[in-house]
Amino acid sequence: MSETESRDFIRQIIQDDLESGKHDQIVTRFPPEPNGYLHIGHVMSICLNFGVTNETAGRTYLRLDDTNPGKESKEYVDAIERDVRWLGFDWEDRLTHASDYFEKIYAAAVSLVEMGSAYVDSLSADEIREYRGTLTSAGRNSPHRDRSVEENLHLLARMRAGEFPDGELVLRAKIDMGSPNMNLRDPALYRIRHIAHQRTGDDWSIYPMYDFAHTLSDAFEGITHSLCTLEFEDHRPLYDWFLDQLKPAHRPRQIEFSRLNLAYAITSKRKLNALVEEGIVEGWNDPRMPTIAGMRRRGYPAAALREFVKRGGVTKKDKLIEMGVLENCVRDILGENAERRMAVLKPLKVVLTNYPEGKVEMMEAANHPGRPELGTREVPFSRELWIEQEDFMEDAPRKFFRLKPGGEVRLRFGYIIQCDEIIKNDAGEVIELRCSYDPDTRSGTGTSDRKVKGTIHWVSREHALAAKVRLYDRLFNVANPNSADDFHAALNADSLQSVDAKLEPSLAALESGTPVQFERLGYFCADSEENSADAHVFNRIVTLRDSWAKQEELAMKDQGQV
Ligand code: ATP
Ligand code: MG
Repeated sequence: MSETESRDFIRQIIQDDLESGKHDQIVTRFPPEPNGYLHIGHVMSICLNFGVTNETAGRTYLRLDDTNPGKESKEYVDAIERDVRWLGFDWEDRLTHASDYFEKIYAAAVSLVEMGSAYVDSLSADEIREYRGTLTSAGRNSPHRDRSVEENLHLLARMRAGEFPDGELVLRAKIDMGSPNMNLRDPALYRIRHIAHQRTGDDWSIYPMYDFAHTLSDAFEGITHSLCTLEFEDHRPLYDWFLDQLKPAHRPRQIEFSRLNLAYAITSKRKLNALVEEGIVEGWNDPRMPTIAGMRRRGYPAAALREFVKRGGVTKKDKLIEMGVLENCVRDILGENAERRMAVLKPLKVVLTNYPEGKVEMMEAANHPGRPELGTREVPFSRELWIEQEDFMEDAPRKFFRLKPGGEVRLRFGYIIQCDEIIKNDAGEVIELRCSYDPDTRSGTGTSDRKVKGTIHWVSREHALAAKVRLYDRLFNVANPNSADDFHAALNADSLQSVDAKLEPSLAALESGTPVQFERLGYFCADSEENSADAHVFNRIVTLRDSWAKQEELAMKDQGQV
């Protein structure tokens, strides 16, 4: 980190702890529960946890917090590993699972019982809730709270042995039923669940609760800074209580930061799962999903996601970041790196009446206007072309510098053409333009130095590659669907539009997932799931400009600047 770059509060704490000698090395963990795919919010946590240790030669664990069998699966585990790696982070040999520690966590529970700090309760779930009290009234002690250590140990062993049905007994910490912090009112440590676990199978019929398992896993791994989101602030006293009681060799410190929320997107695995289950999207990796898998398939570069969370910063304030910020990160990276190609999304046929039939010229086209080292390619030019419907206007205003009756325009990397005649169908729609080209104006080598104001893109009709191009819009119509009572009402019905486009032939060889700019249109990539040699399917990654800047863009186009 450079001297001038300001440190966020967590990096400041870490720096202080290194300088004071409190820690020689920083150890963090990213602890997702494998009950869904990772989303943009997780990207922030991943970049923070791996970021602080990359910057200080520390270590980070990827720990799967798999204490909730039933909702968790191997599919999710695999997706999490794939996504973290794709984001550019490496846990080396530090892939762990809370379930790796089930035996040690159980031993810790036994210790708590032995010290009189935990007990087996026979109240039902409903009774426990009732005894807990409310935010404004104290709870009451369970009648089983004073069971002897021997009886508790015996019952706990029988719970483990599977002798009781689900819900019959629960192991609770003995803290304080009168605490103003509800989390300290004798929270559950273990509950009975006769359910197979994706890793430990039927070994266990009791499973530790999140807070208990999490604190202990942190301690076992020697985590120095346990970074989590703000909703865990009220759990910190419990986290510290476990550490005070059990006095592990390593004492981690929990620090909370605010969640990253993306406007017009959902960042809750439960709700994302509902979108998948209800068939509202194609799957977890639908390119409209704010999941890492979805954004990768959409064509967002990993570097853009990292840059996005960097711009968002690490704070304690709630934040809802505009989609435009993320899109700008994508544009910044693709603008510099993506090669340019030509494609027509809404084709209109153009016939050059004075161009010889059967003739084909190969036009030299720069792959990137600002980076000559990326070379050039050849684009076939012939008598019949496709241009964009919106690049022609019959009753055009004076300032319209694209094609209009009698008007001239330059074809990018090609010639200047003039529109001589319009052909319409019975419905009165323009279906073809008859134009003539000026042979002296060939781009680069033409003898004429004639200039026209507008330049448009095109594709040779005979050589064009037919493709389905999917244009995506935001999935929701409201800025914060996370807080909507029912997110269904907030869905954008027009989040996916599919068009039959014509692409320049070189795009047949483009590898799926490699982003390119379709000149004047935006950034696109071949879809990693559906594109094939005989059925081309492309995704629009992002438009060239934010749509709020659309007006500005049109104005510039008309002045021939784009
Ligand atoms: P979800 O509500 O989507 O299920 P979660 O917090 O339950 O999210 P976990 O798998 O437990 O999901 O999250 C793993 C880590 O990622 C946790 O440390 C959590 O605090 C962090 N995290 C989750 N969502 C966000 C977010 N929106 N912003 C920042 N960090 C997040
Ligand atoms: Mg969670």
